[in-house]
Amino acid sequence: MSVTVASLGFPRIGPRRELKTALERYWSGKSDRGALLSAAAALRAEAWARQKGLGVDHVPSNDFSLYDHVLDTSAMVGAIPALYGWTGGPPDLDTYFAMARGSQGEARAGCSHGCTHEAADVPAAEMTKWFDTNYHYLVPEFPAEQAFALSSLKVVDEFLEAKEQGVHTRPVLLGPVTYLKLGKSQAGRPRLEDLLRAILPVYADVLCRLAAAGADWVQIDEPCLVLDLTVEDQAALRTAYVALAEAAPGIRLMLTSYFGGLGENLETALALPVAGLHIDLIRAPEQLDTVLAGARPELLLSLGVIDGRNVWRADLEAILARLEPVAKGRDLVLAPSCSLLHTPIDLALETALDEDVRSWLAFAVQKIEELAILASALNEGRDCVADVLSSSSAAARARKTSPKIHDAAVAARMEAKDAALDRRGTPFAARRKLQVERLGLPAFPTTTIGSFPQTEEVRKARAAHARGTINDAEYEAFLREETARAVRWQAEIGLDVLVHGEFERNDMVQYFGEQLSGFVFTKHGWVQSYGSRCVRPPILFGDVSRPQPMTVKWWEYAQGLTARPMKGMLTGPVTILNWSFVRDDVPRALACRQIALAIRDEVADLEAAGAKIIQIDEAALREGLPLRRGDWQRYLDWAVECFRVASAGVADATQIHTHMCYSEFNDIIVAIAGMDADVISIETARSKMELLEAFAGYRYPAEIGPGVYDIHSPRVPAVEEMTRLLRAALSHLAPEQLWVNPDCGLKTRKWPETRAALVNMVAAAKRVREPA
Ligand code: GLN
Ligand code: ZN
Repeated sequence: MSVTVASLGFPRIGPRRELKTALERYWSGKSDRGALLSAAAALRAEAWARQKGLGVDHVPSNDFSLYDHVLDTSAMVGAIPALYGWTGGPPDLDTYFAMARGSQGEARAGCSHGCTHEAADVPAAEMTKWFDTNYHYLVPEFPAEQAFALSSLKVVDEFLEAKEQGVHTRPVLLGPVTYLKLGKSQAGRPRLEDLLRAILPVYADVLCRLAAAGADWVQIDEPCLVLDLTVEDQAALRTAYVALAEAAPGIRLMLTSYFGGLGENLETALALPVAGLHIDLIRAPEQLDTVLAGARPELLLSLGVIDGRNVWRADLEAILARLEPVAKGRDLVLAPSCSLLHTPIDLALETALDEDVRSWLAFAVQKIEELAILASALNEGRDCVADVLSSSSAAARARKTSPKIHDAAVAARMEAKDAALDRRGTPFAARRKLQVERLGLPAFPTTTIGSFPQTEEVRKARAAHARGTINDAEYEAFLREETARAVRWQAEIGLDVLVHGEFERNDMVQYFGEQLSGFVFTKHGWVQSYGSRCVRPPILFGDVSRPQPMTVKWWEYAQGLTARPMKGMLTGPVTILNWSFVRDDVPRALACRQIALAIRDEVADLEAAGAKIIQIDEAALREGLPLRRGDWQRYLDWAVECFRVASAGVADATQIHTHMCYSEFNDIIVAIAGMDADVISIETARSKMELLEAFAGYRYPAEIGPGVYDIHSPRVPAVEEMTRLLRAALSHLAPEQLWVNPDCGLKTRKWPETRAALVNMVAAAKRVREPA
């Protein structure tokens, strides 16, 4: 029996973010189309050659994208909304990038990782997260009468391009059912069945053209197979694959599922007339047995045995023990659990990492090496790779016992069962009285979410400090000056609760990760977030503790400049967890609780220093929701508990704020209320306060600051407009519940519009305070 290796997709950005450089040069007019396209071709050639060299048998093509593979699929099937003025034929770069980023707009501005929107003449298509990853795709939009037509031959072109370079690839397509389910439709959603009927001929045509070009296998991604599917969805899968099998008999399809187990879609998947099936054995290791039991003998199984969503080196001997009996009975493909798009590219570039930690890691290149070793061991016997296997096991053993990971003090603290740890002393109503008395704020108090503009100057100073061209003292003096100016100015314009401005923070997670033990940071560990935007997630490798206070000094300095209350400003445990690569040797809930305890210590120190208000941001709580509804409650239970562990140690009179920058609360309102924060600020400006219905309907007891203006655009909203929004909010909330603040932090804005908008915001608050 033979075992082969697939990668399912390779990171596109290039080891040095070459794609980002090429795109941004092109967008800014510093380079032309030819330069962009040849940079892209070079990246593809390098990825193909590299994977082939590493021993990948099924090298992917069409996994590359100039911006996003869902957008590429829309281009392929001609789903391009009328407003882009496209008239058929292959969409040109201008049309493509107009859909991606809007045209004539400033570059996308967004808060931290999440929210990203465009201010432009032609707006960009909506963008949202790809399943439960931090990769964002452009949401396809289908008008009521969507007609599809084969419009881009990128997938065929790239197959031929690789072929010319001597690499026979397995092209990757996003499957029709997942593609359609990811789309939205303004004019009432056309039925999946109808859309499918319209789109299948395009897919069939593409497959036939690929066959004519010489392709034999095609990887067709249907990650919707790991979601809760309706009977109609399952029927759509059958319709689609029966039609494609019939239309392109020369092509063998590798139906690819990832990000979870097939669950109740197992039977559907196994019955589809495809030649191969890929399953994720990292998220759902238990499905191996059921799939083996149900798969027809001639179905080629592709087993996702290496984690494509995380950065840990695998224990190869343990995997082999599992695979050996299986490989005796049938041919296998070994693969990462999902495309390697979601991992950094090459650990070899990380020359400054702690040696031990480094020995526990594997990035895309190393993951492929692991797959190749597994395949050799299965094909030729373990002996031929004995050395590598034993070093893999040795690393796994070392990791299990390393004192760098395992901290007895943290373990003892986790053991101590203190039932009161996640409860405030008294219920909200009683706390509120004490807080109102102590703070003495006006009705409809005004505040901001935390950050002020991270100007060119701030970024330059940070870079200079990192390079060593300015020393600690100079950098510190610069930050103090920025902070002092921001504090003075907030008092001047009459904000009630002030912030220090977060000038010292590069990023709301990294800033804390760098000060906590248990985290490391890479130099080149970039992962694509959207388009040219990449993030370098912290790596949480061990037990977390807080060696010393992280924010107290800045808070004290800022509070010392004003008599008004200064908010302590922290990132919450769930957000730190969800925006990091997390250790896989303990459950996420446990890692999160360790972070929560560390944040709790910081909260205690801020309170002891005199902070009357402490804000703990949980911008990423919602995005941590599992893909299947049935798994939500368990996640919400521990996530909410962690927030409470972090926040509940304070006195009744200390006010806890939280902030969340998304706008869907209906289905998690019980959990949000369960966090028991005294004040929550949320993003609402663009929903015209409608999303407050969730809070009103639930009779949410505590105070709420629904954002009165959208911070994603430089537009300055008028006093009138914000007054109207506040009045609208008052139709959902009691007056004593309402705070006045922008949607999110202001770090991506510039000072002039920030000043003007906040001056107007304060005026709007004053207006609603006046008797009508
Ligand atoms: N306090 C953070 C800020 O103001 C919150 C950012 C966020 O929620 N994404 O930048
Ligand atoms: Zn926010």
